[in-house]
Amino acid sequence: MPIKENIQPKRRCRFCAAPLEHIFADLGTSPLANSYLLPEQLLQPESYYPLVAYICDSCYLVQLEELSSPGDIFSDYAYYSSFSDSWLEHTRIFSEQAIKDLKLNEGSLVIEIGSNDGYLLKYFREAGVNVLGIEPAANVAKVAEEKGIETVVKFFNYALAEELSTKGKRADLIIANNVLAHIPQTNDLMRGFKRLLKPGGTISIETPHLLPLIEENQFDTIYHEHYSYFSLTTLDQIFRAHQLIIYDLQLLPTHGGSLRLAIGHLEEYQGKVSDAVKQVLAEEERKGFKEINYYESFDCKVKQVKRNLLKGLIEIKEAGKVIAAYGAPAKGNTLLNYLGIGTDFIEYTVDRNPHKQGCFLPGSRIPVYSPEIIKQTKPDYLLILPWNLKDEIMEQMAMISNWGGRFVIPIPDFRII
Ligand SMILES: [Zn+2]
Repeated sequence: MPIKENIQPKRRCRFCAAPLEHIFADLGTSPLANSYLLPEQLLQPESYYPLVAYICDSCYLVQLEELSSPGDIFSDYAYYSSFSDSWLEHTRIFSEQAIKDLKLNEGSLVIEIGSNDGYLLKYFREAGVNVLGIEPAANVAKVAEEKGIETVVKFFNYALAEELSTKGKRADLIIANNVLAHIPQTNDLMRGFKRLLKPGGTISIETPHLLPLIEENQFDTIYHEHYSYFSLTTLDQIFRAHQLIIYDLQLLPTHGGSLRLAIGHLEEYQGKVSDAVKQVLAEEERKGFKEINYYESFDCKVKQVKRNLLKGLIEIKEAGKVIAAYGAPAKGNTLLNYLGIGTDFIEYTVDRNPHKQGCFLPGSRIPVYSPEIIKQTKPDYLLILPWNLKDEIMEQMAMISNWGGRFVIPIPDFRII
């Protein structure tokens, strides 16, 4: 295609290799969202990277360019064992359901990609099912091994799938939750899935859904560690291209709206696709997920939300009020750096995670304290950065109404409660 030769730089879609010429969201430049700073790092410069999401006009995959290898991003992966009770309950119910639906037993093998400390595989093992974890962070894998969960300390890719299946380790169930977006080599990953899955087996995947991201202005969930943002329309194409097929799904509320997909071999499940899958595909098509204009209008919406947020925060500051934030999630860093605000607007933030307390947010350099400080300093406004948990947080922090404090919700748009 000689007419396209002059486009610089030559960005290519990571799935279909078409040139990437359309911007989905331009969020300026930002440090890596999880690079929290220690006090001694405040005198050092920070690395900023462009944070621009592109949309492929051929397969409609929303994607970032690969700037750092996952090795760089995950090399100092901090391990936090503090999973919430509700999350553990979510995984327990999932494992029980999977054992029942897929008729797993002592002869079955469950492989989890990104198995963390084995908190999910543990439930399968307790039911007598064979398990194998794949986890690149050595310190985390060690915790799993200590619990008796056999774990391969590697990044998952086709080469590893080949190695395992040559040793006879093919899975009846492959679980890959929140890993699809984190792995830039999408096609290699798919080839790995295909190789590792036994005939008759199922892959269970949870991944954030592009539909609520667009409809509810969740642009702050775009950060460098997330390479790809998937609609069902695009995922359907990607799996089919690798002789796999999404045969069922559930919509989950996690991360602002996620898909839980059940995937099998194409040759086994063609013609057996559930109505749930067909309905979401139809809904996406109705909304415009097969038209480039639909995606290109998102950047305008994002800029409007930015102006609304800045306007609201400026009004609060001009009235002489104090704003603090709640939470130190990665998405909060995208938001604050895109707005270009720091301690000039937000005095501090708080987080229940002791590993983040005493640190500073990357870029904005807002200090992170323990939530106790809110009672002592009585801020007028509390900006909730993990807006997906706003109900839970507003309940925990209800005492701010004692001094007339109010909540600010940034997404989908500036709102005071
Ligand atoms: Zn593409």
